Amino acid sequence: MLSIRSLYQVGHGPSSSHTMGPAKASGIVKQACPSCDRFEIMLYNSLALTGRGHLTEEAIKESLGETPVTFLTSLDLTKHPNTLIIKGYENDQLMIEKEVNSTGGGRIVFVGDDSTEKHIYPHKTFKEIKKYCKSKHMALHDYVYEVEGEEIKVFLEEIWEAMKSSIIRGIATHGVLPGPLKMKRKAPELYSKLKATDVPELVENRLVASYAFAVSEENAGGGMIVTAPTCGACGVLPAVLYYMHEKHHFISKERIINGLAVAGLIGNIIKHNASISGAVAGCQAEVGSACSMAAAAHATLFNLSMDQIEYAAEIAMEHHLGLTCDPVNGYVQIPCIERNAVAALRAIDACGLAYFLTDSRKISFDMVVQTMYQTGLDMHQSYKETSQGGLAYYFKEEDDVNCW
Ligand code: SF4
Repeated sequence: MLSIRSLYQVGHGPSSSHTMGPAKASGIVKQACPSCDRFEIMLYNSLALTGRGHLTEEAIKESLGETPVTFLTSLDLTKHPNTLIIKGYENDQLMIEKEVNSTGGGRIVFVGDDSTEKHIYPHKTFKEIKKYCKSKHMALHDYVYEVEGEEIKVFLEEIWEAMKSSIIRGIATHGVLPGPLKMKRKAPELYSKLKATDVPELVENRLVASYAFAVSEENAGGGMIVTAPTCGACGVLPAVLYYMHEKHHFISKERIINGLAVAGLIGNIIKHNASISGAVAGCQAEVGSACSMAAAAHATLFNLSMDQIEYAAEIAMEHHLGLTCDPVNGYVQIPCIERNAVAALRAIDACGLAYFLTDSRKISFDMVVQTMYQTGLDMHQSYKETSQGGLAYYFKEEDDVNCW
């Protein structure tokens, strides 16, 4: 497994696989061919089908300047779900051609190139990690510090600061999100309504939802967020951490950093053994993974046992199994933003159940990760970030939902 530094990336939304990945790939190819005077890009599969709504072309142009981008919208199942081909020319002569897979969370793989990424973790599954930690009487967050080095704490502090900033900005920003849906930003209104309610029992923990809206709306608006593990699912983990930090005075910054370390480990296990990409395995791989990470982080904040942390992460993933990716018009707005809020609430509930029921559980975290991946591979392509099925297919602007 790679360092959790590659999981948490600070950058602009709205999509780690559709904006961050292609922008990074374009920059690398440009650097590899300084004499190239022009480039052209071909997008395949999900990148082509939802690239317009995900602002892929704009992200590429930020790296390469004005560049022709071709959206090849017929599915090519011989290629990775998020493939781009970048060609560079000098005096109309082809100098460089690279096929790149954007595999989720901003990570890119150049097809045919040996990976330069270093796998630093000696273990691959939760079971292996748990066995090692128990033999050493070591907490999960200490395992992360042992592998990554103590300096990872400084990195995680920066991640925490970036997460907090995205919440604070999102809560304070009114207006309409970019794109044809003309989605009103809801975080500020939700936040103030929840704060003002005179029936607090009715809104127990609901404030966390307004924080998830805040971050996800920042993402949809192209603001600065942290992939956790992706842009589309970036609202869940910060919302849970921020809410708990505000609510409980005993949750120190140190505990938050420990929570981020454990959440990173959970995301890493999913990324290594399955996928965190909606184009590969549906939204269960994005928001499901984010919920799993947040549930594990939440359990860490409350010093729950390793088995309880595992169970919280397992519950959170298990009840996202089968979740499709069907962004309306290709924009990371419907169902993505609200889905982050619901997943944040669910992460808290998963942890609550794990606290009481861990002794009687039957499903391990590794088992649910494998199940999620196979479910994703079996899922029809129209439900994997192609905007060809689900809500993306049935959505009609003129429907007046309030009349139903
Ligand atoms: S539906 Fe889920 S996986 Fe698909 S774009 Fe939205 S958040 Fe990402």
